[in-house]
Amino acid sequence: VNCSIYLDHNATSPPTASHLKTLFELLKNPLGNPSSPHLLGREASVALSKARATLAQALQVPLFEIIFVSGASEANNLATAGVLLASDLPVSQQHAIVSPLEHPSVRAPLDFLRTHHNLSLSTLPLSPTGILNFEDLLTHLTPNTTLVAIMAANNEIGTLQPVQKWGDFFHYLRWNQLQNPEDQSCFDDWKQKLQQHQNFSTQYFRKLHFHVDAVQSFGKIKTERWLSPGLDSFSVSGHKLGALPGIGVLVLRRGRIFSPTIRGGAQEKNKRAGTENLPGILSFHLVAQQLLQQHWWDNTAHMDALRKDFFQKLQTLPHLVLHSPFEQALPNTLSFSLEHPVFTAEDLLVELDLKGICASSGSACSSGSKLPSQVLLALLEHSGRSFEQIKHLAANSVRFSLSHSNTAQELHRVFECLQEFL
Ligand code: PLP
Repeated sequence: VNCSIYLDHNATSPPTASHLKTLFELLKNPLGNPSSPHLLGREASVALSKARATLAQALQVPLFEIIFVSGASEANNLATAGVLLASDLPVSQQHAIVSPLEHPSVRAPLDFLRTHHNLSLSTLPLSPTGILNFEDLLTHLTPNTTLVAIMAANNEIGTLQPVQKWGDFFHYLRWNQLQNPEDQSCFDDWKQKLQQHQNFSTQYFRKLHFHVDAVQSFGKIKTERWLSPGLDSFSVSGHKLGALPGIGVLVLRRGRIFSPTIRGGAQEKNKRAGTENLPGILSFHLVAQQLLQQHWWDNTAHMDALRKDFFQKLQTLPHLVLHSPFEQALPNTLSFSLEHPVFTAEDLLVELDLKGICASSGSACSSGSKLPSQVLLALLEHSGRSFEQIKHLAANSVRFSLSHSNTAQELHRVFECLQEFL
């Protein structure tokens, strides 16, 4: 069956025909190794530098903070386990804090360190709206907390977390600088609470590493809406935005260190050995060029309007429990659970698949495994439902994730299919 309507862009957003055409044109000329001194090597090195400059511009960071890696999974491993392993303190004396929403590439390295190196690891609770509370972070911070890892936007339900505000607060504590003067009274209040809780020094906050998984927010929410100088590292991935898979960026702030996983070469200033994936980098470069154009953001606004319209239509259908927020959400993500006496989410997904509609159940990484979504378990914990009901909903979720290429007609067709099914 051909997939005629693709609504799984949070899993991967396949390159468009025009992207591939431009990329193949670029790849027609043979590319050398950017480390080679001859002509082809020098040309490759120039192409690499140009791509770095454009990505730095799109991510609003200096050039030297960009590290090309194989994808966000690698970036997240480096910014979690890599950061803890580079500390002066043994892992067993460190404490890390994560949200229950994190992607497995953040969670699993930390779970590994907990099991094998006695890392102390805390998971923040989630409010019923799916947003984290700063008060909860305050109560979990200890003098041994060396890492806080929070995602900017969730891949499953599309909720946005206040990572910018938290980053600005850390920046305020470290350097006494406000990004936004309106935050003064709120930040002073938080600071006071922090001092009541533990006597934390400026020095302490300068050491604490704040990592943000920005995979789903990058290119969907303008960078200035989630970025903060208080973010010590963040990760993005090319294939979520229509670039080839296998290319990502870890942004690491000046003065921050991690222990590299791949050693044995001076590439990326000794932080990530291995010949650069130039086709992937060129592809990500093309995407980043688009993000710098107003046209991209006009299309994003159009996509958001489609999502909102579809959201309202879904509300009219029986047996659905919507999880994604209407506002303050990714402009492309809609998640719901099926609460049906007979049919499961899998039945619905199979039915859609047969009609050429590609969607996914919860996060793509756990689909097929039949495990209830951890994100939905955390989200529904305070919903007043019994644990059995929550487990049922968390095991029966469906996610539609759009790109600029989706149309109102396509969503209308999907709605008709849902209506028929229900
Ligand atoms: N973080 C989030 C939020 C994601 O959605 C994904 C992709 O599934 C990743 C990290 C991993 O990205 P990659 O496929 O580039 O390793």
